[in-house]
This record gives sequence, structure tokens and C-alpha cells, in this order.
Amino acid sequence: MSTKGLLVILSGPSGSGKDTVLEQVFKKEPQLQKSISMTTREIRENEVDGRDYYFVSKEYFEKQISAKNMLESAVYSSNYYGTPKAPVDKWLEDDKTVVLKIEVQGAEKIRKLYPDCVSIFIMPPSLKVLEERLRGRNTDSEEAILMRLEAAVGEMQSAEKYDYIVFNDVLEDVVDDVCSIIKSEKFKSLRMKNKVREVIKNA
Ligand code: 5GP
Repeated sequence: MSTKGLLVILSGPSGSGKDTVLEQVFKKEPQLQKSISMTTREIRENEVDGRDYYFVSKEYFEKQISAKNMLESAVYSSNYYGTPKAPVDKWLEDDKTVVLKIEVQGAEKIRKLYPDCVSIFIMPPSLKVLEERLRGRNTDSEEAILMRLEAAVGEMQSAEKYDYIVFNDVLEDVVDDVCSIIKSEKFKSLRMKNKVREVIKNA
């Protein structure tokens, strides 16, 4: 599917710091459109329903899949996560740049659906740093942390499928890098050709 707007996928293992990076990216580029995912996982203390995620029951999520209301969905750490379809369709139609923060299975599906999308993988500097970050959050049980660490190694094996890989060493640099990637992608001739043709047509 070719779209009017630009679809950006951002992935990275839990603990890679992608949430902090994205938060800063949205602050720096407020015109970017954040897609709010739906999940069946428990809400964390610092989270707000409708801002961080739509927190729903397993039954509700499965109904949304059956009704084909999800652009993609995946099971991650025994919970469903997915992107509601209608808002993304609308934003792309309105020529917006939409950012999806999703894990690797979902990214694979989106890449097939939207070959024009741009995908960015955020890498932690090392496994040690990743583990420290996961433990430092104090949000997950030991079992959940071990599951996330195992999942992280699997996810990093998919990094090479992404268009861009950015190591999360210094936050400000990573934020600048992600913003630059998005900006450059917008100016690709592939995305500009219709605008050029429009100008020529009206000459
Ligand atoms: P967390 O529980 O740490 O918020 O998220 C766990 C993983 O699910 C992260 O890698 C996050 O990017 C991913 N995720 C969040 N929303 C979605 C979504 O809508 N679809 C998919 N496939 N993954 C998602």
C-alpha cells in the first residue's frame, strides 16, 4: 500500500530506552503524530489509559482483531499489543507523519502492508546496560524481567531488517539522529514526485 503521509516504525527491545527517545522526539517535533496502541497488559503506576496505551481486556482485544479493526497485532510477554487501524488510516490520508512504537513481529507485518514505511531500530549500548535499565525501572517482577531479557536478544537479531539502526548511547544525540532520519526520508524523490508533477501540471 502506498500512502500519502509517512509511516515510521520505531522498535527496540524493552530497556533500550526507546520510550525516552520517543518522548524527546515528540517534544522536538510536535507535528509528528503518535499512534496509541492497545494492550492487554496491566497498567503501570506512571501510565495513563488513553495516553500511553488503551488498556483493554483479552476478550475486547480479540473482538477488535475479529472485526479487522487492528492494523497489526502481536503477542509479547504473554500479552496482546496492537495498533488501532482507523486513526492511522486517517492521519496518513491527512498527509501526516505517523510514528508507531512497536515490537519486531508487528514491524514485519507493517513493512509488508506499507513497503514505503521507514523503520528504525534502537539498540541498547550493551546487554549489561539493558539489564540495568530493566531492573532500575522497578515496574516488573523478576519473572517478567527475565522474559523481557530473553525477548530482547531475540528482537536484536531482527535489527538488520530495519532501514536504520541507532545505538542509544547519549540521549540528545539519539533524539537528533531519529529526527534527522525522519526529516531526510520526507524529502526522498519517491515521496516528492507527486508534488513535483502537480507543479508541472499547473505550469
Ligand atoms: P511495554 O509493555 O514495555 O510497554 O511494551 C512491550 C513491547 O510491545 C515494546 O517492544 C513495544 O514497542 C511493543 N508494542 C507497543 N505497542 C505495540 C503495538 O501496537 N503493536 C506491537 N506489535 N507492539 C507494540
